[in-house]
Amino acid sequence: MKEIDFLLINPWIYDFSAHDFWLKPYGLLKLAGKLRKAGYKIHYIDLLDPFHPDLPKSPKRKLFGTGHFYKEAIPKPDFFRDVPRRFFRYGLPFSIFLREVSGLRFKGVMLTCTMTYWYPGLFTLIDFFAKYFPKKPLYIGGIYAKLCLKHLENFIETNYPWLRWDIVREDIDTFISKLKETYEPSGKPFSHSYPAFDLQRHIPYVVILTSQGCPFSCPYCASKKLYPYFIQHEPEEIIEEISFWHQRFGVLDFAFYDDALLVNFEKHLAVILEGVLKRGLRVRFHTPNALHARFIDLEVASLLKKAGFTTIRLGLERIEDRLDQKVTLEEFERAIYSLFKAGFNSSNLGAYILFGLPNEDFDLVKRTLLYLEKLKVPPYLAEFSPIPGTPLFELAKETSRYPLQEEPLCHNNTTFPALKNPPWEVIHEIKNLARGIRARFKTLEAS
Ligand code: SF4
Repeated sequence: MKEIDFLLINPWIYDFSAHDFWLKPYGLLKLAGKLRKAGYKIHYIDLLDPFHPDLPKSPKRKLFGTGHFYKEAIPKPDFFRDVPRRFFRYGLPFSIFLREVSGLRFKGVMLTCTMTYWYPGLFTLIDFFAKYFPKKPLYIGGIYAKLCLKHLENFIETNYPWLRWDIVREDIDTFISKLKETYEPSGKPFSHSYPAFDLQRHIPYVVILTSQGCPFSCPYCASKKLYPYFIQHEPEEIIEEISFWHQRFGVLDFAFYDDALLVNFEKHLAVILEGVLKRGLRVRFHTPNALHARFIDLEVASLLKKAGFTTIRLGLERIEDRLDQKVTLEEFERAIYSLFKAGFNSSNLGAYILFGLPNEDFDLVKRTLLYLEKLKVPPYLAEFSPIPGTPLFELAKETSRYPLQEEPLCHNNTTFPALKNPPWEVIHEIKNLARGIRARFKTLEAS
């Protein structure tokens, strides 16, 4: 029996699709790193672990640490009868989870849940611990718990009113200080407090967060609600962190999770990248979260290229009737010109197009795809998910066929939740158009 203080678990994902496009539970791993530093003995179970040796089939891995998760088909929730897609549970089979937990003795469990509509993975774990470890407290963090607290409270109070539980609402340091009032750490302080990527079976990439929040306020985004202030961390600390993972663990791929990585470029990211170059770190950087094209000129693009940026995603949204103020078409085109001139090619680039907004204009989405094709930028459709607390959520409540307020499952973007009657054929056609454009760029680059 392994004695620990806390057990930390990254839950399964229940969804139509899920892909490891640099997808990690950053907050949970950060908490793990700080708990270790405070002297707590912890154990981490990643239920999405694509490298688990007991998986019935190894999921396919792709470039730069990305890849598939293991998945099993499960019945589709009733709400989604009209959605012409299959539904899956992504992650380890339940039997492997049972084996992982059975050898542990712990004082409490810490859980997370990222997307609001992924709560079934969290609820499965709450059910399990309430049934088999009813006296162990549960600490729950992540975006779902912050944005849908009432829904979570309702589930626990209705089913397990005797359960000891809390949500992790304050910053991690404050949370750990409070924890210390009840639980003395049973180990020795660990050597560093970086997010505990080394607790994974394998480190295909590391996620870096150089800032918190975003100075912009797009009406469909929860960034401001989750992080009211925009704070950038010290560049020196970030250089140390990248250097640590690269030199100690040989990590080559780093994904930035920042919402606004290029803001204050000269005093922030430029300093980080100059530091990386000065130390001779030969690494690759990826930006699964969109960069702000308005901040990219030739000088910025050249430094990104020199420092090893390999995957760049830009936020475009659409070419007309834009909802945000973050980029004009002129700024977007200047950014693309600068990126190509600096040596990037189409395979490095991609732009997100919002798809499935309330009262969607499908023709406009098509025109936006063709606009990107002309610019030689692969288009990626970002299907709209209504996020509680945002202005567009309120609008989506009026145009949706689902009870968005009551049921977070209905925020699932694959279902086109903001539409009364999603025209599936048109949606299919648009998705194929986007795929076709991306495939053409791939063929061109390969030839
Ligand atoms: S710029 Fe991006 S992160 Fe910032 S508010 Fe808009 S969508 Fe959110």
